Amino acid sequence: MSVITDQLTIVLMVTIKWICGYYLDMPLTPYHLGVGVFLGVALLRWLDFPTLCIATMIVDIRAIAIYFGLFTGNLHGPLHTVLGGTLLAGLLAAIMFKTKPLWNRLSALFGLAQKRSLYRIVTASLIGIYSHLILDAIMHADMQPLYPLTGNPLLGVLHLSDVYIICVAGFFFGGIFYLIHLYRWKTGRFHMSY
Ligand SMILES: [Zn+2]
Repeated sequence: MSVITDQLTIVLMVTIKWICGYYLDMPLTPYHLGVGVFLGVALLRWLDFPTLCIATMIVDIRAIAIYFGLFTGNLHGPLHTVLGGTLLAGLLAAIMFKTKPLWNRLSALFGLAQKRSLYRIVTASLIGIYSHLILDAIMHADMQPLYPLTGNPLLGVLHLSDVYIICVAGFFFGGIFYLIHLYRWKTGRFHMSY
């Protein structure tokens, strides 16, 4: 019983550290969502909201599996490259286009339903994934974003705290924009015709 409790405690602690982003050698996935929330609400007419939110985080799917010990390898591997990220964006866009009606059932509850548009879904997928790659490349020395070319030209171009501020500001301003959007939607001043 105590072994199970110990293991649950370890999983809980690792999850808390991951969410809070205590260590720089770990995936800071939840922070990336700040960019998705801000751009998604601010550019609701031009970008598919759920696709953008998922795209900002899905790049870390392999890194999270490694972090939680599911398998081993470089934390910022093939998905953290322009090549791998672009392929992932194409795959995500195809899945999101196919499942858009399901996403709309959920989005409609929050006033965020959008018509299915391949252009909006592909654009959101690419922007979400590239924003993740850019922010990670600034922070992580083990990234080789231009693979098969070596090196990381973005490493250190911004201070780490600036990257955090960008992500947190995304949540903050995205939240304000969403409240404005919600008010307009609820009061009938906003018609979701796109
Ligand atoms: Zn990442």
